Amino acid sequence: MIHDHAVALRDRLVEHRRTIHRHPELAWCEHRTAAYIESVLSNLGIEHRRVLGTGVVAVIEGRGQGCVGVRADMDALPVPEAPGRDGYRSENEGVSHACGHDAHVATVLGLAELLAGQAELPGTVVLYFQPAEEGGGGAEPMVADGVLDDPAPDAIMALHTASNHPAGTVAMRSGPVTSAVDDITVTFHGIGGHAAHPDRAIDPVPVAANFITNSQQIITREIDPLKPAVITFGSIHGGTRHNVIAPSVTLEATMRSLYPDTRDYLVERIQQMAHATATANRTSATVSIERGYPAGYNDSALTQLVHTAARSICGDEYVTVEEHPSMGAEDFFAFGDTGIPVCMFRLGVGNASRGITAPHHSSHFDIDESSLPAGVAVFAESIRRLLTGDTLLTTTD
Ligand SMILES: [Zn+2]
Ligand SMILES: [Zn+2]
Repeated sequence: MIHDHAVALRDRLVEHRRTIHRHPELAWCEHRTAAYIESVLSNLGIEHRRVLGTGVVAVIEGRGQGCVGVRADMDALPVPEAPGRDGYRSENEGVSHACGHDAHVATVLGLAELLAGQAELPGTVVLYFQPAEEGGGGAEPMVADGVLDDPAPDAIMALHTASNHPAGTVAMRSGPVTSAVDDITVTFHGIGGHAAHPDRAIDPVPVAANFITNSQQIITREIDPLKPAVITFGSIHGGTRHNVIAPSVTLEATMRSLYPDTRDYLVERIQQMAHATATANRTSATVSIERGYPAGYNDSALTQLVHTAARSICGDEYVTVEEHPSMGAEDFFAFGDTGIPVCMFRLGVGNASRGITAPHHSSHFDIDESSLPAGVAVFAESIRRLLTGDTLLTTTD
C-alpha cells in the first residue's frame, strides 16, 4: 500500500526535484528552496517554521506517543553544470545540485504528502529541512537551536542518493558509515632567489615535496592498518616562474578517519611532521587545522528496522548491506550526537543503460528519477514500523 502511494506521487516528486534543481543555492543561501518547501507544506496543511534563516522544520502530528524525525539537506555546490538536462537545467550559473540534495528534498516533500494523506498517523513525524551540508555544517547549529526538543524524536532517518548504486536499490550498514574530516593548511617559508643559485636562497619547494611524502608515512607506518585513514593534498601553490626560487609554498590537505583515536593522532602528528620537516630543511612552517565533521555511525537497531522495511518495499534482492563505510563526510550525524538513534541509508539513483553514472560533485552528476518513489516508501514504511510498535532494541554501538 505504502509503495503504491509512493509510486502514485512519482510525477510530483519529479516536479519537486526539477524545480529545486533549476534553482540551486549554496550553503546558507537556500532562500528560494526554503520558500518552495514552505509553499508545498502550506498547500498540504502541514505546520512548519523557519530555523537559522533557511532551514525549515515541519511537524505532522498523529495520535500516538511515538515521534520520528526525517532530515533532508537542501544546499547545492559551486560546480558548473555540464550541458544537457533538457527542461531542468540549473539557472544559477556556476552552481548545481551535483550531490543530489534536490532529490533529498523532493523525497521528503513526497513523504510529507503521503503522510498528510493518511487518515490516521499513529504518532508524530518531524521533517528537518537542513541548510548547509556541503561544508557549512548546518546540522550542528540546527540541533543547538533546539529543533530536537519539542517534539523530541525517538529516531531520525535520512537518505543519501548514490549514483554508484542502480536505481531501485537501497543500501545501508550499521556502525561506522562516514568519515571524520579535518583540513590542514601548511605554509613553508624559505628565502626566494635566483634559480641558478640555490645556495643563496632557501628553497621551500623541495621541503613541501618532502612533507607530502613524509605525511603518507603516517598513514602507512604509524596508523593501525585495520583503521582506515587518508591524507590527500588537494592544493599546492608556490612560485611564479621556472627561474625564480619561491619564497614560500602553501599546501592544503584533507584528513579522513573513522575512529576518534585515529583522528586525534592524525591531527597531532601531521602538525609535528610539518614543523619537523621545516626545521630539518632550514625553513619555518605556519600550520592551521580546521576540525570538520566527526565520523558518522548508524544505530544498529534502527538500521535493522530500516533494512527490514526497505526489503519489504524494494524486494530482498534490491537491498544490500554495504560492506564498507565511506571515507566521505556527512553532517547528518550531528543529529545522532545527542544520543538519539540515527540511520542514513543510500538510495541508488544510477542507471548505466541511460549513462547516469557520473560521481557526486561532478559537473555531469545526474539521477534516474524513477528511484524517487522508493526513497519515499522506505521512509514511510520505516515510520509505520517505528510508530506501530516495532520498538528499537537497546543498542550497543
Ligand atoms: Zn556532497
Ligand atoms: Zn551530499
